[in-house]
Amino acid sequence: MKNPAIALENRYCAHNYSPLPVVLCQGRGVWLVDEAGKHYLDMMSAYSAVSFGHSNPTLVAALTRQANRLAVTSRAFFTDQLGPFLQLLCEMTGQAKALPMNSGAEAVETALKAARKWGHKVKGIPENSAEIIVCNGNFGGRTTTIIGFSSEAQYRDGFGPFAPGFVSVPFGDAAALEAAITPRTAAFLVEPIQGEGGIVVPVDGYLAACREICTRHNVLLICDEVQTGLGRTGKLLACDHENVKPDGLILGKALGGGLLPVSAFLASEEVMAVFTPGDHGSTFGGNPLAAAVGHAALSLLRDDHLSEAAERMGQRLQRGLRAINHPAIRVVRGKGLLIGVELDPAIISARAFCEILLELGMLSKDTHETVVRFAPPLTISASEIEIGLGIINRAFEAVPVPAVPAERSFA
Ligand SMILES: *Cc1c(COP(=O)(O)O)cnc(C)c1O
Repeated sequence: MKNPAIALENRYCAHNYSPLPVVLCQGRGVWLVDEAGKHYLDMMSAYSAVSFGHSNPTLVAALTRQANRLAVTSRAFFTDQLGPFLQLLCEMTGQAKALPMNSGAEAVETALKAARKWGHKVKGIPENSAEIIVCNGNFGGRTTTIIGFSSEAQYRDGFGPFAPGFVSVPFGDAAALEAAITPRTAAFLVEPIQGEGGIVVPVDGYLAACREICTRHNVLLICDEVQTGLGRTGKLLACDHENVKPDGLILGKALGGGLLPVSAFLASEEVMAVFTPGDHGSTFGGNPLAAAVGHAALSLLRDDHLSEAAERMGQRLQRGLRAINHPAIRVVRGKGLLIGVELDPAIISARAFCEILLELGMLSKDTHETVVRFAPPLTISASEIEIGLGIINRAFEAVPVPAVPAERSFA
């Protein structure tokens, strides 16, 4: 019964995750394969990092070509790869300049540093007193500064003391944002849809209202699109649903084509001008290998119209999920191919449901105990969506329906 790969990982790896009991060894497109050769439809996409599918041949070709030419140099020198990558990134997102990093958390940290320094040097906030407004339920990564403004008790437990200078407001409440702004406010940091927070979609018009409020108060609007960006929600950026242009934009996850960690903070000339040589950096940030893969990923997104595909396939998947009639389903929500199904924990936990999906050949993960994520690669086909819906339907058939209490059965 004891799987050697699982035993080895449990023996030598820190227990900072609790993986589902499956040992993966291959991936192709939307499919993952375990040691026994069993295939699973991937509804996780590594938290949206694998938007282009596993081992995307175009991206693997770009990776191997560049790996054989030049991989890592550090930013101590120019390379022939970084300029074209950041040009395409800026042109596609409508931002003026980019600062390349690796993980999403590093790009969030970069945004926080930019916001604070802009607040002091440009807005004139007294030194060391700039405030950044964030939302309850946010997720920005796991550095000590970022977890310091998390509202998730477990993310913080035991890791203090935390950096000051953050103010929390409810997500989806533009009036609360405006009420929290003071002369010391440098920026508002927000995810257009909260991913790790449980695929929480704010009311229509929220982001546009935040844009207007930030402009009026000379506060930077910084959108963390590490998870929602690059086609995931059916538009290139989730901001595009409300025609909002943020002053700062954070991208990661899918930017690395599912092959490498590649992230970036993008902003206007004015904001990015706060960085001068030596202020900030990263040994691996913007390396030629990452730049070549990032460029290939962006080109593929554009040329294969993957945002539009995510919109079409997302509608199909959402329609199929909404058609499932089961008392365990509280709500289906999301945009494009970022979809969450909230379950009634009195009937089944999201984790237990994911274990049923695993048995039936689908991989997903619970978020926030009650939400199951359905976020396949954007390259998923209509027939693969149908296969997925078949599996999800069978999984719900395996969830026992609790007996209706007598006093309610004739209501
Ligand atoms: C995943 C995520 C991050 C952090 O990215 P890492 O690469 O894990 O550091 C930041 N912001 C959002 C919205 C995310 O979903």
